[in-house]
Amino acid sequence: MKTDHQYRKILCNAKRIVVKAGSKVLVQRTGRPDRTRMQKLVAELTQLHKTGVETALVSSGAVGAGLDALQRRTRPSDIADLQMAASIGQHRLMGIYGDLFSKNKCTIGQVLLTHDVLKDRERHLNARNTLLHLIANRIIPVINENDTISTEEIKFGDNDVLAALVAILIDADALILLSTTDGLREPTANGRTRRVSCIDEVDDSILAMIEDKHDGLSTGGMTSKLQSAELAAHNGIPVVIANGRKDEVLARILSGRDEGTLLFPKDKQISKRKRWIAFFNRVEGKITIDKGAEKALLTGNSLLPVGILKQEGNFKLGAMVEIISQDGHTVGRGLVEADSQELASRNSSNAPAKEQPIIHYDNLVLL
Ligand code: GLU
Repeated sequence: MKTDHQYRKILCNAKRIVVKAGSKVLVQRTGRPDRTRMQKLVAELTQLHKTGVETALVSSGAVGAGLDALQRRTRPSDIADLQMAASIGQHRLMGIYGDLFSKNKCTIGQVLLTHDVLKDRERHLNARNTLLHLIANRIIPVINENDTISTEEIKFGDNDVLAALVAILIDADALILLSTTDGLREPTANGRTRRVSCIDEVDDSILAMIEDKHDGLSTGGMTSKLQSAELAAHNGIPVVIANGRKDEVLARILSGRDEGTLLFPKDKQISKRKRWIAFFNRVEGKITIDKGAEKALLTGNSLLPVGILKQEGNFKLGAMVEIISQDGHTVGRGLVEADSQELASRNSSNAPAKEQPIIHYDNLVLL
C-alpha cells in the first residue's frame, strides 16, 4: 500500500491530465460566466500546457450561461428549455474560452459528447482518436456533454461522470475535479468539519459524511464526484477533488502539495476493450450467481446459465449486466449472449443451451 505522500508525488509526474470545472466554479449565481475566474483557470491550464503537460478540460456552465442570456433565474425542468439554454450558453462559454486561450497563445478545440457515443464501440474509438489527435497537435480539447440533444436515455448523468470517462478514454495520468469546496469534509468532535486529505476506497462510511446541497445551475454533488472519482481510480487513475476558486490550485496539486481530497488509484490492469465493457456501458440488468459459478469465473471460465440463481431487469442480447455473488457483492460485469427472456427460458429448461456460456469470459470483467 502506497502512502498519501507517495501518491502526491506521482501527481508531479503526470504527463496527461483531465481537469473538470463545475458550473459553480465558472459561472456566478445568476449563471453569468465569471470571466475573472475563467481567466485564472485558463492561465493555469496554459501554464501547464506550456510545460508539456497534456491537458483536456471538461467544462460545465453551458446551461447556466444560457439561462443568464435568457434572463431566467431558475433552472427549468422542461428538457426543451434546458436544451435551448445549453445551445445558447455553450456557444457563449466557448466564445469566452476562445478569447482567453488565444490571449495565452493556445489553441482549443470543442468536443461535445453524449453517453451513447462512448457506449457504441466504433464511435467510442472515434472519440478517443479525435481527442488524442487534438492533444498530439498541442490543442487543448474543451469538452462538455452535448446538452442540446441529450435526453435521459443518452445522458452521462453529470459532468463528473463525463470527466471520469474522458480520463479513462484518453489514458490520463490524473483527473482533477474542481468544485467550490476544498474536497471531502468530515465532521470533527467540536461540531466543525475538516478536509479529508486522502481516501483509499469510497465505501458507505465515506458516503455517509456527505450532505449534498443542490442549486439551480449544477447537477453533480459530492456523492457524484466520489462515485466518478472511484470510476477513474478503478482504472488506475489518481483523482483529486479540490476547490476551483482557489488560485494556483492546479499547480499546487501537480507539485504534490496536500491540496483537496486524493482518491488512491487501484493497480488494476484491464484491457481497453474490457474497460469499455465495464465502464462505458450502462448496467441493464443483474444476475445473481451461486458459489460454484463464482469460483468458475474467478478461475477464468465463462458464466453458464446453470450457475444463475436470479436475474433482474429486461435486457437485450449484448447488454451489459452486473454479476452479483450469493452473498450480495459485485463479482463483475459482462455482455450477455441472450436477452432476458431467452435467458430465463434457458435456465428453466433442460435444454443443452443451459450449458452454453451466457457471458463469455472474453466479454467478462471481474471487479
Ligand atoms: N453539461 C452541463 C452544463 O454545461 C453541466 C452538467 C453538470 O453540472 O454536471 O451546464
